[in-house]
Amino acid sequence: MGILEKFKEKVSSFLKSTSNTLSIDKVKTGLTKTRMNIFDRIKSAIGLGRKVDEQLLNEIEEILITADIGLDATEKILNAIKRNSSKFNTLDSDSLLEIIKLELLNIFETSSQEINSNPFEINTQNLPHTILVVGVNGVGKTTTIGKLAYNYKKLNYSVLIGAADTFRAAANEQLEIWAERAGVPVIQQRQGADPASVAYDTLHSAIAKKINVVIIDTAGRLHNKSHLMAELEKITRVMRKLKPSAPDEVLLVLDATTGQNAIQQAREFTKVAPITGIVLTKLDGTAKGGVIVPIAMEFKIPVKFIGVGEKIDDLQPFNPVIFVDALLD
Ligand code: GDP
Ligand code: GDP
Ligand code: MG
Repeated sequence: MGILEKFKEKVSSFLKSTSNTLSIDKVKTGLTKTRMNIFDRIKSAIGLGRKVDEQLLNEIEEILITADIGLDATEKILNAIKRNSSKFNTLDSDSLLEIIKLELLNIFETSSQEINSNPFEINTQNLPHTILVVGVNGVGKTTTIGKLAYNYKKLNYSVLIGAADTFRAAANEQLEIWAERAGVPVIQQRQGADPASVAYDTLHSAIAKKINVVIIDTAGRLHNKSHLMAELEKITRVMRKLKPSAPDEVLLVLDATTGQNAIQQAREFTKVAPITGIVLTKLDGTAKGGVIVPIAMEFKIPVKFIGVGEKIDDLQPFNPVIFVDALLD
C-alpha cells in the first residue's frame, strides 16, 4: 500500500472524529502566507516545465529553506526529485508538487504524525481527563486553552480550567475572558499563589463535580530551567494524589512565527516534561509554517492542533494529509 492510500484510510477516520471541530477552509486560509511562499514560488520557478538540473534544484532548495522546512527535510525532498526525475524529460509544476507532497507525507509518517486519528479522544473510563498546558510566555497557551475548552464543550464534555499561571498579574483576567467565551468555569487563586495548589483545587473540584475534562494553564518561565522543572513536577505530584494517571496529556504550545526559537523551546521543554502533544499556534501569521516539518522530525511527538487565528474556533486538529493539501494545492 502506498503512502497516500495508507494516509487516506486514516484521513477518513480523522474526518469522522473531527466532523464537529475541523474546518478545512480555516486550515487553508490559515496557511495562506506559507502556501504563497512555497506553492506560488515553485509554480513560478518551474513555469511550464523545466529540465531537472543543478540550477532548478538550487532554486527549489532555496524556496523550501525560506519556508523553514529545514535542511533535513529539504534534502529528502531534493533526493526524491532526483530519484523521480528520470521519469521526466522536463518536470512540470504539478508533478513536482506531487513529489514534494508525497515526500512530506513520508516524513510525517516516520515522525509519528500519523497516529492522530482523534485528537479529542479521552478515556471515559478514567475521568476527569487531565491536560497540562506548557510553553513559554506569549506563545498562545491561554488562548489555546480557551479554544480547547470550546471544542470539548462542543463535543458535549464538561470542562473545568485551572488558572495555575499565578505569576503574571493579568493572567487570571485573560483566562477568565477565554473561559467565558467557551462557557466553562475557572478555578483560580490570588496572584503569586502556589500553582500546584491551584492544580490541586481544580482537580479536586472536578472530581467532586464529575467534570469530564480538566485543563491546567501554567506560567512558562524558561529562563530558569530547574525552577520550571520543579514547578511542573510539583504540579504533577500534587495532581497524582487525586488521580494517579494525571496529567493524562502534557501539551507543549509553540509559536510558529518564532521559527528556530520554537524548535529550541521544544528541545528545552522535552527535557523537563513528558510532552505528549504539540500545539503549533499563529500559523496564520507566518510564511514560515513549514517549521512544523522539522518539529515533527526532531521530536517525533504528535502535533495535535494548529492555531490559525485569534478567534475561538481557530484551533484546528492537525492531520498531515489535510495540511499538505492545504499547503500545496
Ligand atoms: P500565553 O502567554 O502563552 O498564554 O499566550 P496568549 O494565549 O496570551 O497569547 C499571546 C498572543 O498570541 C495573544 O495576542 C493571542 O491572541 C495570540 N494568538 C494565540 N494563538 C494565535 C493564533 O493561532 N493566531 C494568531 N494570529 N494569534 C494567536
Ligand atoms: P507544600 O509543601 O505546602 O507546597 O505542599 P505540597 O507540595 O504537598 O502541595 C502543594 C499544594 O497543593 C499545597 O499547598 C496545597 O494547596 C495543595 N495540596 C496538596 N496536597 C493536598 C491535600 O492533601 N489536601 C489539600 N486540601 N490540598 C493539598
Ligand atoms: Mg497565558
